[in-house]
Amino acid sequence: MTFSSFGKKFTRFSGITQLMSDLNEGLRTPGAIMLGGGNPAKIPEMQDYFTQLCADLLAEGKLTESICNYDGPQGKNTFLTALAEMLSKELGWPIEAKNIALTNGSQSAFFYLFNLFAGHQPDGQVKKVLFPLAPEYIGYADVGLEDDLLVSYKPTIELLPEGMFKYHVDFDHLHIGDDIGAICVSRPTNPTGNVLTDEEVMRLDAIAHQKGIPLIIDNAYGVPFPGIIFSQATPLWNLNTILCMSLSKLGLPGTRCGIIIANEETIQAMGNMNGIISLAPGSIGPALALEMIERGDLLRLSEQVIRPFYQQRVEQTLAIIRHYIPAERCLIHKPEGAIFLWLWFKDLPISSQTLYQRLKARGVLMVPGHYFFPGLEQEWPHTQQCMRMNYVPEPELIEKGIIVLAEEIERAHKEG
Ligand code: PLP
Repeated sequence: MTFSSFGKKFTRFSGITQLMSDLNEGLRTPGAIMLGGGNPAKIPEMQDYFTQLCADLLAEGKLTESICNYDGPQGKNTFLTALAEMLSKELGWPIEAKNIALTNGSQSAFFYLFNLFAGHQPDGQVKKVLFPLAPEYIGYADVGLEDDLLVSYKPTIELLPEGMFKYHVDFDHLHIGDDIGAICVSRPTNPTGNVLTDEEVMRLDAIAHQKGIPLIIDNAYGVPFPGIIFSQATPLWNLNTILCMSLSKLGLPGTRCGIIIANEETIQAMGNMNGIISLAPGSIGPALALEMIERGDLLRLSEQVIRPFYQQRVEQTLAIIRHYIPAERCLIHKPEGAIFLWLWFKDLPISSQTLYQRLKARGVLMVPGHYFFPGLEQEWPHTQQCMRMNYVPEPELIEKGIIVLAEEIERAHKEG
């Protein structure tokens, strides 16, 4: 068998494949401490809620109805309408059902969007997707049909008290030429927990408008749902913005439901791509989310259950880290949202890849930071100095993992 160029590109053992197979391996290894993946927490209140919701929908025949039919290529109409109403009411955005399309997980939305706006153009030009601030989400790295589809920029680093730091967009060095087809940011950011400031987002929005290219904002963790954001941040949407949302971090990753909010032309393109690639997006996620909107539970649970859960968990995790690892050994990106901590081992004598392997050998899974710089062309030692960990497991497990991490850091320093 010979694979095509497409086959060769999409069957590579990419960073995301490593992450997913580690996750799978870890899940099957008894006693492994999984601080690597992006699975949302099993929040007991949400689990009970979803169990009851499924039971109710089953009893009412709505679940059977949804699994026995294809939705349209743009997604379940009743959900699109309810979501549009909710978002316009909540955020004051002029959104209608024609501004929303669903995809099978927001991951596939990025595949569609990046290849829609970047790559070979009809006039022969080749365009790229620009990430104004790397580190960025590992899942973007390999979605391009063509190689070298992505370009990213180093941030500036603001050192904060108590061993924290925060990345900012380095506007002084950001160059957005005519070869850029779209700008993309995750806000809150996976892997760092950074939330771009309102000013940064407004400046990016202005640049995107000026260049006539879309600003893609990946809002997988943001407001109004699932609401895993701890700092003040005003959500942005306008006809030049493509906002991507998801039901995953609400606690429903298995429904594979991504939501794209954009101008009509982009939404029609998404619907057409859905038709060709998957006929229609899955219908269970929208059926559940529609009911949640109708019951007034989607935003309520995001605000009252999900956000407080993660806020408490992140504070506990920070306290655990600082109990075992002092600031001289490890700086932490200020956690402003999402479900990860980004650790910077500035003076560690070994690379984060070696640290990852040593931790993995001891049953602790974290993700080495160098995967999170898709499209960064310059050499930057910082990329080898960071690790991403999630703070989803129970604090007792996190503590066990941090003890191992602290030991491995000391060992590396002793080896010098
Ligand atoms: N965007 C970000 C920033 C993520 O962290 C993830 C998943 O971890 C996704 C998008 C994709 O999520 P899904 O395809 O489950 O909607």
